[in-house]
Amino acid sequence: MYNRHDVFSLIHRNERMNTILDKITLLIPCYNEQEVLEQLWLRLNTILGEISAVSFEILFINDGSTDNTLHVIKKLAAQHPQISYLDLSRNFGKELAMIAGLDYADSDAVIIMDADLQHPPELIPEMIAYWKEGYDDVCAKRRQRTGESFIRRWAANTFYSLLQKISTIKIQEHVGDFRLLDRRCVEAIKLMRETQRYTKGIFSWIGYRKKEILFDSALRAAGTTKWSWLKLINLAIEGITSFTTFPLRLSSIAGLVISLISFAYMGWIIFNTLIFGDPVQGFPTLVSIILFLGGIQLIFLGVIGEYLARVFNETKRRPLYLVNEYNGKKSLYRRDRLHFEDQGEN
Ligand code: UDP
Ligand code: MG
Repeated sequence: MYNRHDVFSLIHRNERMNTILDKITLLIPCYNEQEVLEQLWLRLNTILGEISAVSFEILFINDGSTDNTLHVIKKLAAQHPQISYLDLSRNFGKELAMIAGLDYADSDAVIIMDADLQHPPELIPEMIAYWKEGYDDVCAKRRQRTGESFIRRWAANTFYSLLQKISTIKIQEHVGDFRLLDRRCVEAIKLMRETQRYTKGIFSWIGYRKKEILFDSALRAAGTTKWSWLKLINLAIEGITSFTTFPLRLSSIAGLVISLISFAYMGWIIFNTLIFGDPVQGFPTLVSIILFLGGIQLIFLGVIGEYLARVFNETKRRPLYLVNEYNGKKSLYRRDRLHFEDQGEN
């Protein structure tokens, strides 16, 4: 763990070695965040002012906010040249807002963070220090989930351990979207154009050198969370179906086991009837079996449906998002960092 002094001395040591400044984009998806943006900018400005070795761009993604968020962003952008914004044509959700931002960021590294100050900007220098040390993906891990109800924490824990058990790649636990990504991670993520995105899984999937740093997640500075229970459950299903086909396998296994038991039971009934001539009996058993099998069938029909829906959605090949307005100048990133070539208006 770095302390503050180490962090800045490390960054400054690098500054002397590098003549061309590294550029970092802070990517901030915003959906109805008008109350916090000014505050966010003040906090960011203080921190970023202390780091002279890196040049910063702040890229706000307005994800179809229905309040004055865009207006506030435009006001900030007019005052400060390092702020740019991308206005999406409607609300696409945070996952798509993030890929939109990654598509438009043209820097050496990107830091993704929430607008609501739950991701403390004070962590940024430490992230940069690790990046300079050679890590490609520095992610902030919540020490504990503050400000969330017990049941929500329990649900999150259960979900993570379930996902871990059934997926083949190791998915990082309790790691949010607050992270620094090196250019090569960004390029890797940009290759993954699935429309139903589970970004946490994608971050794990790409691999590269990862470093986790711990932080205490703060309470939301203002506004309300956009995650309802329904959305969270949807995200969980999204997470599972996008990363593993285990539920399909499970349906095969369950089908096999149930068939075996059923066959055994059937044999026993036939035997019973032939030998003892059992008269018609067992209405309760019959009803139970029918209902049980009906239930199982419906569940696995649902599972197959989930995957079919995925296939359906991906085959449409729609663009991931549409842009209404972009105020920055998207330039083509060159690994040697000598030029940024303009691609023209987007
Ligand atoms: N967000 C977004 N589009 C959405 C929902 C959320 O861009 O449809 C942004 C939101 O503005 C915030 C971040 O995603 O910057 C995290 O959202 P929120 O704080 O509501 O989620 P939580 O912190 O409760 O997980
Ligand atoms: Mg939040």
